Amino acid sequence: MEKIKMTTPIVELDGDEMTRLIWAWIKDILINPFVDLKSEYYDLGLVEREKTKDAVTVEAANAIKRYGVGVKCATITPNAQRVKEYNLTQMWKSPNGTVRAVLDGTVFRAPIMVKGITPYIPTWTSPITIARHAYGDIYKDVEGYVKQGGKAKLVLEDCDGTREVEVFDFAKTAGIVMGMHNTDKSISSFARSCFNYALDTRQPLWFAAKDTISKTYDHRFKDIFNEIFEKEYKEKFEKAGIEYFYTLIDDAVARVIRSNGGMIWACKNYDGDVMSDMVATAFGSLAMMTSVLVSPDGNYEFEAAHGTVTRHYYKYLKGEQTSTNPVATIFAWSGALKKRGQLDNLKDLEAFGEKLEKATIDTIEEGYMTGDLAAIYKGDKKVVKLNTEDFLKEIAKRLA
Ligand code: NAP
Ligand code: MG
Repeated sequence: MEKIKMTTPIVELDGDEMTRLIWAWIKDILINPFVDLKSEYYDLGLVEREKTKDAVTVEAANAIKRYGVGVKCATITPNAQRVKEYNLTQMWKSPNGTVRAVLDGTVFRAPIMVKGITPYIPTWTSPITIARHAYGDIYKDVEGYVKQGGKAKLVLEDCDGTREVEVFDFAKTAGIVMGMHNTDKSISSFARSCFNYALDTRQPLWFAAKDTISKTYDHRFKDIFNEIFEKEYKEKFEKAGIEYFYTLIDDAVARVIRSNGGMIWACKNYDGDVMSDMVATAFGSLAMMTSVLVSPDGNYEFEAAHGTVTRHYYKYLKGEQTSTNPVATIFAWSGALKKRGQLDNLKDLEAFGEKLEKATIDTIEEGYMTGDLAAIYKGDKKVVKLNTEDFLKEIAKRLA
């Protein structure tokens, strides 16, 4: 069989622990036999990040800017324990944070649905995609504790002069205060990423905040979304037959629960943090969640939503067999190959991505799966619990 050809490389960001092993197996078993893979390889494993003083992470992010499509393996974000374990000279920052800072974008997360793994909400028959704004608000705030008798004030300085507003007078009791920000530029990028992604995937877009209470801050989000929609996207949405609307966050939560899914739900940073865990869990498993970072100038980075699955890796090192679920990592690869195919007009490559996803889903629906899924499977097939490599081989049989 002749292998599928590529013209532009995919930027490949390798990672750590169990997912690093899974990364190599997926390439060996599912991709290299079928595709003449062109990739520009960056090793983001912690050993290499230490060796390059984390320069490799920035180089990889810049390569994604150059080529437009990247695929990333899960990586360790070091904490004090990792500094010891890997003998690090510094507690290197989260690679995802670094890549996000270079690409500036929005993270879209969607569950992979298969028959037999049923959502906790029975009406959710289509996936719900969460679009999380990944900049500002409480993630970049300043906070303080104010003793009784103190006062907190907000001082604003710009070309209109200086204004001072009292936040609270702590005359009768001590308390706490917080200052946070966002920028028109970042909110506009967020809005455009969401509108583009909705058009790309032909799904309606919901955006929710709390503008009735936060009359300047949250209202600014609402206004920017509306202005950009009216000016740049309204007609495109009408043509695509999809809608955009804004609603209050509490109303959105109620509507999402009653819905059948099938929409993109754009969330401010904190709402997205909380709601994406809720949605992932309600759909079954974090190991069945895709994640893609879309930048406002049209660059894509595909990854799995879970981490490096450390607990399984330590078992593997002891020589025990592990049944770690590779589905989200497979979908990161298929997503990147499909996008590369679309951008380079390579129909075969795009079709390969589709077939890889179908073969993966078929394998599970026929009863072959990893341990995490076997534990929650409610379908009518006899379950065959496999280790990771045997599961990948089952997928390869169907793909061939
Ligand atoms: P994790 O790797 O997501 O794993 C947490 C637990 O979830 C696992 O122990 C396992 O449960 C289950 N799980 C997650 N993915 C699974 C899969 N594919 N198949 C089967 N079970 C799966 O999170 P963590 O243990 O908190 O973090 C480990 C490392 O990953 C940390 O160093 C962290 O910095 C890093 N991390 C990286 C990313 C990223 O690169 N995007 C994201 C999150 C965390 P059981 O043990 O019960 O089987
Ligand atoms: Mg979270």
